[in-house]
Amino acid sequence: MNSQSHQQLHVTFLPYPTPGHMNPMIDTARLFAKHGASVTIITTPANALTFQKAIDNDFSCGCHIRTQVVQFPAARVGLPDGVESIKDGTSIDMLVKISHGISMLKDQIVLLFQNLQPDCIVTDMMLPWTVESAAKLGIPRIFFYSSSYFSNCVSHSIRKNRPHESLASDNQKFIIPGLPQIIEMTPPQLAEHLRSKTPMTAQLDAMFESESASYGALYNSFHELESEYKQLHESMLGIKTWSIGPVSAWVNKDDEQNVNREHKEDLPEEAEWLKWLNSKQNESVLYVSFGSLTRLSDAQLVELAIGLEHSGHSFIWVVRKKDGDENVDIFLKDFEQRMKECNKGYIIRNWAPQLLILDHHAVGGILTHCGWNSILESLNVGLPMITWPMFSEQFYNEKLLVDVLKIGVPVGAKENKFWASTGKDSVVGREEIAKAVVQLMGKEESRELKRRARKLGDASKKTIEEGGSSYNNLMQLLNELKSLKMSRAHEKAN
Ligand code: UDP
Repeated sequence: MNSQSHQQLHVTFLPYPTPGHMNPMIDTARLFAKHGASVTIITTPANALTFQKAIDNDFSCGCHIRTQVVQFPAARVGLPDGVESIKDGTSIDMLVKISHGISMLKDQIVLLFQNLQPDCIVTDMMLPWTVESAAKLGIPRIFFYSSSYFSNCVSHSIRKNRPHESLASDNQKFIIPGLPQIIEMTPPQLAEHLRSKTPMTAQLDAMFESESASYGALYNSFHELESEYKQLHESMLGIKTWSIGPVSAWVNKDDEQNVNREHKEDLPEEAEWLKWLNSKQNESVLYVSFGSLTRLSDAQLVELAIGLEHSGHSFIWVVRKKDGDENVDIFLKDFEQRMKECNKGYIIRNWAPQLLILDHHAVGGILTHCGWNSILESLNVGLPMITWPMFSEQFYNEKLLVDVLKIGVPVGAKENKFWASTGKDSVVGREEIAKAVVQLMGKEESRELKRRARKLGDASKKTIEEGGSSYNNLMQLLNELKSLKMSRAHEKAN
C-alpha cells in the first residue's frame, strides 16, 4: 500500500528547527500526504522525535510519508547530545552554537536532495540557499512563511520606504506606507536589524529575496482572516501564494485517532493542570504564554506575576527557564504556593500542551506574545487575546489583532527585543498588566471583542472543510504541482 508510483507527486519538506516554524510545516507535510502526495521530511534526530509518532500513524493508515534523518553536529559545535532546536537555547552562547550547527547541515541536505530527486521542495523561509538546490534539480521551490501576510506586507513596506528614519525622536509615531488601513508604530517597536545594520540584516534580506525567487509561497492563513493583505502581498512581490491554514486545526480534525503532537492519551491519567482547569468555570481562566522561545527577565517575571494576581482573574501560566534563574526561582515558588492556596493561578514549567489547554472549556482568553501559530491556535477556538509582542514580526501581528481584526487588547509593549539580547530591559508594569487582564476577562468590557473572535473561530473551522477556501487552495496547489511534474516528464521523453 505504501509503495510509491511513478505518477505520484513526491514532495520534500525542509523545516527549520524551532517549534514556531516546524509545527506548521509538519502539519502541512502531513496534509500533503493525506491528499495523495508522497512526502519526505528532512530533519535531525531529536527534532524528529517530537513528531515521529504522528508520521508513523499516518504511514500505518496508508499515507506515503517518512522522515529522513540527518545527523546534527552537536559535538563539533560544543553542544550536548539532543540539543538541536532553537527552543533549547537557554543562553546566548547556546543559541549561537545551535544556529551554527543548523547551518552546517547544508551540505548533507544538498546531497540528499540529489538522491531523493523530489518533484518539489517546500522549504522554510530561513533557508534561502534552497533556491539554488531547486534550480539545479529543475523543480519548483515553495517558500513556507511561518507568519501572517500582514506582517510580510508591513516588513516589505518598512524595508523599502524606511518611514522610521525621518523622525526626530523614538517617541514619535510613523504610519506604515502603502497599507489599506492606517497603522502606526514607533521606531523601537521595529526589530533591531531594521533600525541598524546587524548580522541578521543581510540574513533576513536574503530570506525575503528568496521568496521572490521562488515558484510560490505557502501561508498558514485563510481567506476570511486577511485576504486584503494576501492580495497586497502578491502585488508587492509578484509571486503566487496559497493560504492553506489553519493547518494545525486541519490535520488534527482529520485525526480521528487523535494522534497529534500532544494527544490526550499520552498524558498522565489525571494531569494536574487538567484537574485544575476542570475545577474552573467556563471561560474564567486566562492562558498566559510567550511561545517556545521567549524567556522573561527577572524584573518582568515579577511584574507579570503581581499584575496577574492584582487582576483578580484566574490564570494558567507557562514559565520558561533561562540560565541564571536561581534568584527569581525563590520568588516564583512563593508566588506559586500563594496562588495554590487561593486557587487563582496554576504555573506550568517550561512546556505546556498548548492545543489541549486552549481547547479547554474553562479557558476564556490568552495573553500571547503574538507568535503566529499561537494566534491561529487561539483563533480557531474563538478566543480573544491580550497582545504582548516581544520581538521580530510579533509587533506587526499585534497591529493585525488590535487595529485590523479588533480582537486584541494591547498590554502596551514598547520595545522589540529578543530575550537573549544584551542591554536594558523595558519592563511592562504590573498596573498595565492587571488593567489589560480585567479588560479582556471582564464580562462587560470585552463583549464585542469576544463576539468578533468567535466569528473568526467559526470561519477558521469552515475554511478547512471540503469546499472551504483553504481546502480548495491546497487541492489547487497539489493539482498544479502534478501538472508541472507531468510536463517535465513529457519534456524529458521528447
Ligand atoms: N508551544 C507549545 N507549548 C508551549 C509553547 C509553545 O505547544 O509551552 C507551541 C505552540 O502551540 C505553537 C508553537 O509552539 O504551535 C509556538 O509558535 P508561535 O508561532 O506561537 O511562537 P514562537 O515560539 O515561534 O515564538
